Amino acid sequence: MSRFRLHPTPAQQAVLRDHCGHARYIWNLAVEQHAHWHPGRKGAPGYLEQCRQLTAVRAEYPWLAAGSQTVQQQALRDFAQAMTAFFDPTNPAGRPSWRKAGRDEGFRIVGRGRQWDVRRVSRKVGLVWVPKAGWVRFRWSRAVPPGVKSYRVTMDRAGRWHVAFAVSPGPVPAPGNGQAVGIDRGLAVSAALSTGEMLHCPALTARERTRLRRMQRQLARAERGSNRRGRVRHAIARLKARETDRRKDWAEKVSTDIARRFDLIRVEDLQIKNMTRSARGTRDDPGRNVRAKAGLNRGILRSGWGLLVRRLQDKAPGRVEKVRPAFTSQRCPACGQVDRDSRESQAVFRCTACGFACHEDVNAAINIAAGHPTHLPIPLHSRGGFRDAGPVNREPQLLASLAGRG
Ligand SMILES: [Zn+2]
Repeated sequence: MSRFRLHPTPAQQAVLRDHCGHARYIWNLAVEQHAHWHPGRKGAPGYLEQCRQLTAVRAEYPWLAAGSQTVQQQALRDFAQAMTAFFDPTNPAGRPSWRKAGRDEGFRIVGRGRQWDVRRVSRKVGLVWVPKAGWVRFRWSRAVPPGVKSYRVTMDRAGRWHVAFAVSPGPVPAPGNGQAVGIDRGLAVSAALSTGEMLHCPALTARERTRLRRMQRQLARAERGSNRRGRVRHAIARLKARETDRRKDWAEKVSTDIARRFDLIRVEDLQIKNMTRSARGTRDDPGRNVRAKAGLNRGILRSGWGLLVRRLQDKAPGRVEKVRPAFTSQRCPACGQVDRDSRESQAVFRCTACGFACHEDVNAAINIAAGHPTHLPIPLHSRGGFRDAGPVNREPQLLASLAGRG
């Protein structure tokens, strides 16, 4: 997805807002239809049936008929795709929900050549054709990828318009080097690779965060409905939009890089939602960084982990494996010992048996790369060792499996 800043004239903005409104209206109708469905009833209407219904609705409501049919039909297609994502167990997407004015503003246009086209008019200016709005200027900040078939126009909460041309992200070819990489998510380090690399998802700078907190206090004090309140809200939204942009850019770059370098990509299988709810873990497998997480639940989302995994799955289909996230922090990748005490500190792993040491997150990533935890023998407890962090459980087969993969 490559996104460009769109600069519609005031008259064009009015048309774009109408498109957004229509798309939202149709989307919400679809949400409602599916909300009324219960097990036992006849199935909720699918995409094709909904398109037939749309034609009927347009015949009845002139204000909808005055809008773009493409916009409205694509809203139904977006909804159908969102339902598919919702039913896909590997996708963390939730059930498609109600869209609100001012918050979820956007529409999609397909059919290049018939419905739309794009061209460059000067070094920094491009034009994109939007049905009923005509040629709309956008900032030509980089090349529009060849072969784009559709685009999506959005307005963020800060009132900025963007156009994103959809390049179905042709999967990145595997390098064919037989190498596997493990990626561990974290807060201090957004992603640690088993190669030892530590990646940080850019967030707001300390200065920007200070500014954000100050504005949030101002907002709390500002009178409801006042101009001042509107201005502060706008400024807060801009700052948050900036953070989102950075996170998206980061996930794009990192996912492409990893998909290019490794044949097999292993990540922890975790539900972001569960993780944000509780970082404590269980008694036998306590979560890592518990204290840091408790106060920074939102930080997990901020770190862009979920986005990164989704983009990896897009770019390396069939090459991303999810690994059970148990014990990845307590196992020594060199000798296979599992011991809670090897976690010397928040940042350091030092094996109590063989002395192997590395960064705690990298250690976890190496274990994830080995894919070992999925095969963790369950009866550890019956041997009595783990629960009390007493005797040592050795699992020499890990070394063999690491060597085999090397
Ligand atoms: Zn060891």
